[in-house]
Amino acid sequence: MSMKKISKTGFGEFITHIINTDGNVYGVQAKTEAKGDRFAFGPLTSADDLRLDYDVTLSPPKKYLLPPKETLVKYEVGGGYESSICKCKSILIGVHPYDLVAIKQMDELFSQDEYDTHYMTRRRNTTIIACDVAKASPNVFASSMGTATVTDGYDILLTDIGGAYVAHAATEKGEALLTEAAPSAGDATEADIAARKAVQDKNDTGLNQHELKCGPADIPGLLEKGYDSPVWEEKAATCYSCGSCNLTCPTCYCFDVQDDVAWSLKEGARHRAWDGCLLENFANVAGDHNFRKKREARYRHRLYRKGSYIPKKLGGEIACVGCGRCVGACLPDIANPVAVYNQLLEETK
Ligand code: SF4
Ligand code: SF4
Repeated sequence: MSMKKISKTGFGEFITHIINTDGNVYGVQAKTEAKGDRFAFGPLTSADDLRLDYDVTLSPPKKYLLPPKETLVKYEVGGGYESSICKCKSILIGVHPYDLVAIKQMDELFSQDEYDTHYMTRRRNTTIIACDVAKASPNVFASSMGTATVTDGYDILLTDIGGAYVAHAATEKGEALLTEAAPSAGDATEADIAARKAVQDKNDTGLNQHELKCGPADIPGLLEKGYDSPVWEEKAATCYSCGSCNLTCPTCYCFDVQDDVAWSLKEGARHRAWDGCLLENFANVAGDHNFRKKREARYRHRLYRKGSYIPKKLGGEIACVGCGRCVGACLPDIANPVAVYNQLLEETK
């Protein structure tokens, strides 16, 4: 597939063409606050609003693939039913590599065992224009997790090399979009490709505000030994059970399913909504039995999901991509996975 160079002026035209041609275009935009700019994905209506120089978005782009709340099926009691499957096409612009890794993990998880038609239909209909990270966020540790750069998982990857972008099309969909929306883009030269590599080499080591003192592959073994470590009680002592660490995480995908039956008792709908294992009622079951009532049990469970249980389904891949969102979202500052893994490492020495 091709590697093109798009000038900064040509880039505006490229994005404008996409906005004018395709229906649902979502891109990273800034909200200026007293502490500086904060960034979020949202509907994009002007190329001028797109910010590819962002550090991290408040919530990950997974919300376009697994919406916070969605209707799964509508039904009539004693009658038929209709699945509510969204077949609309959409384009995401500005997805960072660590978020791409999280999306790839969800693709794998939602197509294993119980194939999730709702997620997979959306995913198939989504085009991803990713971008290499231009600025490290205050809590990113993607370099420690091996997720700072990627070679696949996107349709187009943009890298800012100064006066221009290098655009790599990795799929036929990406190639077609690049040809159609940026017809004047020329092939990237060797110097452009070297400049792209320099950006990626820098990110491979530089997106590391919290340094994991072992390799990601060592994490399952650390957890195996650390089930009774004091770290769980120590950290969870100040946990508010607010669930922010779950809800901002690009790899958390748990949801709750609820039926909403009409007052007539003749029809209803089944919805699902994001849930989080740190929330007190997450593990509440029939009979009001809660098998993770204690905060430390819930706190430990989150880290085991990321570092032990999900890796068993993903061929060993750790379900933490080092975006650092949970670290920034946690008021008592206890959610940082690196702090826990490093402490477990110390304890096993
Ligand atoms: S656990 Fe934290 S750092 Fe890791 S992917 Fe989730 S939000 Fe990002
Ligand atoms: S964000 Fe922090 S306080 Fe809130 S549930 Fe997670 S660990 Fe607990």
